[in-house]
Amino acid sequence: MATYRVGILKGDDIGLEVVPVAVDVLKAAVRRHPEITIDWIDLPIGYPSYIDCGETLPESTLEALGGLDGWFLGPIGHMAYPRDDPKAINPHPILRRQFDMVSNVRPTISYPSVPSVHQDVDLVIIRENNEGFQPDRNMFKGQSEFMPTPDMALSMRVITRRNSSFVAHTAFKMAQQRDKQKRVTAIHKNTVFKLGCGLFVDVCREVAQEYPDITFDTMVVDTFAMNLVRKPQVFDVVVTTNMFGDILTDEAAGIVGGLGLAPGICVGPKYVMAQATHGSAPDIAGRGIANPYAMIMSGQMMLEWIGKTRDDAELAAAADKVARGVKAVMADPAKVTPDLGGKNTTEGMGQAVCRAIENL
Ligand code: ATP
Repeated sequence: MATYRVGILKGDDIGLEVVPVAVDVLKAAVRRHPEITIDWIDLPIGYPSYIDCGETLPESTLEALGGLDGWFLGPIGHMAYPRDDPKAINPHPILRRQFDMVSNVRPTISYPSVPSVHQDVDLVIIRENNEGFQPDRNMFKGQSEFMPTPDMALSMRVITRRNSSFVAHTAFKMAQQRDKQKRVTAIHKNTVFKLGCGLFVDVCREVAQEYPDITFDTMVVDTFAMNLVRKPQVFDVVVTTNMFGDILTDEAAGIVGGLGLAPGICVGPKYVMAQATHGSAPDIAGRGIANPYAMIMSGQMMLEWIGKTRDDAELAAAADKVARGVKAVMADPAKVTPDLGGKNTTEGMGQAVCRAIENL
C-alpha cells in the first residue's frame, strides 16, 4: 500500500477550471488501483492567493511543496499582477529554481480527429529550464540583463555543464523508455555561440556515450525549426537549451492543433511539477470552454514520473489508464472542447475522460 502526497496549485484564470478537472481525472484513475492512496493538498498561489493573503507565492506554500511527491501548477497570469508590489511576484521562475527543476519535458502528439498541419507526430522536446537567456532565473543574485546607456541593452546567457548533462540524461532515458526510434537530437547554434552551444553539444555528446542503444545526432536550431514544420514525424526525442526550447515547443504545439494540446512536466533530481505549456488564457477564462487536455496529460506525465522514479508499477499503470482514457475521448469529436472543433465544456470533457477510465 503506497501513499503519495500531491499538491494542487490552481494558478490564475483558466487554471481555476482546468486544474480541478485534471485532478478529477487522476482521482478516477487512482480509484482503479486500490493499492495506491494519494493525499491531495490544496495550496494557495497566484492572484487568488494575493487577494486572500497579500502574496502570490506565500512562504507557507513553498514550505509545504518541499514535503510533496509532486504537484500541479496551473497557468499563472502574472502580467495582470500589480506592477509596484514586491509581494505580487511571478511564482514560475522561483518554483523552477528553488526546487531545482532542470528539465522541462514537453511532448507533441497529433490526433487523427483534430485538424492539424501534420498527422502521425509523436515527439518530445526536453528543454533546459533554469538558465539560458532567461534573466528571471539564470542568476543566483542580480540581473543578467542591464542597460549601460538608455540606448543599449545587454542580455547574458548562461550554460553550465551540470544542467546540460541533466537535460541530456533526461532525454536519453526518455528515448530508452519510448517505443519509438530510439533517437536523441540535440538542437544548438554552435556555429555562432561557439562557447555556450559548444559546451551544450559537447556535454550531450559525452552523455550519449553512456547510452549506446540510442542514436545521437545534432541539428542547428534554424534547420530544426524548418524541419519541424516540414517533417515533424522524423523526430523522436529532442534536447535543447532554454530559449530555443521555449520557442520550439510552441511551434511544435502549433503543428498538431495548438496550445491546448501541449502538456509538460518540470523535473529535477528530486521534484516533479505538472505544468501545461499554455498560459492562463484570460480571454476565455470563466466561460467553461478551456481545453483541459494539456493539464490532464501534464498530470498523467507527473504520475508516470513518480511511478517510474519510485519503482511503483501500480502508479505507472494508473498513469497509463489516464493516457488511454484521454486517447479514447480525443477520438470522438463530440467529446472535445471548441478549440479542437467540438462543443463540449471543460468539465464535460473531463467527465468523459473519467468515464472512459472507469470503462477500461
Ligand atoms: P504565457 O505567455 O503566459 O504563456 P500566452 O501569451 O502564450 O501566455 P495563452 O494564455 O497561452 O497566451 O493564450 C494564447 C491563446 O491560446 C489564447 O487565445 C488562449 O485563449 C488560447 N489558449 C491557451 N490555452 C488554452 C486552452 N487550454 N484551451 C483553449 N484555448 C487556449
